[in-house]
Amino acid sequence: MLEIRNLHVKLEEEDKQILKGVDLTVDAGTVHAIMGPNGSGKSTLSYVLSGRDGYEVTEGSAMLGDLDLLELEPEERAAAGLFLAFQYPVEIPGVGNMTFLRTAVNAQRKARGEEEMSAADFLKLVRERARALKIDAEMLKRPVNVGFSGGEKKRNEILQMAMLEPKMCILDETDSGLDVDAMKLVAEGVNALRSEGRGFLVITHYQRLLDHIKPDVVHIMADGRIVKSGGPELAIEVEHNGYTDILSEVA
Ligand code: ADP
Ligand code: MG
Ligand code: MG
Repeated sequence: MLEIRNLHVKLEEEDKQILKGVDLTVDAGTVHAIMGPNGSGKSTLSYVLSGRDGYEVTEGSAMLGDLDLLELEPEERAAAGLFLAFQYPVEIPGVGNMTFLRTAVNAQRKARGEEEMSAADFLKLVRERARALKIDAEMLKRPVNVGFSGGEKKRNEILQMAMLEPKMCILDETDSGLDVDAMKLVAEGVNALRSEGRGFLVITHYQRLLDHIKPDVVHIMADGRIVKSGGPELAIEVEHNGYTDILSEVA
C-alpha cells in the first residue's frame, strides 16, 4: 500500500536535513504507529507525503501502490486515496459542513474520472456514516468547524475520512493535545474504518491512544530515521522507560 524507501528530506528555505533515510512499508489492512521524541521528524514525514510546500526530497522514494507519490500534486495524492487528517482543523464560516463534505467527495470523484454523486445518494451516505460515528445530524448543518468543541472537530475529521474512503490514512496527533475523550474518538474512528483494503499510519506520542487502537506494528523514529520497529509491546516499553533506553540500544 505505502512503500517509503531511503527517504531524505531537507527544508527548502535552509540547508537543514530533517529526514535522513526513512524506510517504511505499510501493507493494506494493517495499522502502523510511529512514535518518537519531539523533533525527530514525524510530522515532517506526514507533510512530505501529503505534498506540502517547503520541503525538498533529496533522495529516496514514496509509492502508494504503483503510484509515485512524490510526482503528484497534493490533490492528485488525495484522489489516489491518500488522506491526511488535519492536525489543526480549519474553520470555514459560511460553508455548511454538508456542503463542504459533498464538495470534497465530488472533487475526488471528478479527479478519478467518476460521475458526481447525486444529492439524494450523498445525503443518504453522509447520514449513514454520521450515524455510525455517533455524529449528530445537526452538526452536519453547521458551518465547518465553527464553534465546534475539540471533540466535535475530531469527530468531523473522522467523518471526512469516512466519506472519502481513502486507501491510506495518515493521522498526525503529535501536538494536538488530545484529551482522553478525543483520544477515544480517534481510536474508535480508526477502528471503525479498519478494513482489508486500507492502511493506517498513526503518528502519536500518546501510548494510551495505541491502547485503544492496537496497532499491528510500532515504529520508533529518532533523528530523521526509523530506528526500531516491533509490535505493540514497543509502545508499552516507551511508556515505561521513555526513549532513552531504546535510543542508546540502537546507537
Ligand atoms: P516531530 O513531529 O517528530 O516533533 P517535526 O517533523 O515537527 O518533528 O520536526 C523535525 C525537525 O525539523 C525539528 O527539529 C524541527 O524544528 C525542524 N523543522 C520542521 N519544519 C521546519 C520548518 N518549516 N522550519 C524550521 N525547522 C523545521
Ligand atoms: Mg513536534
Ligand atoms: Mg509532530
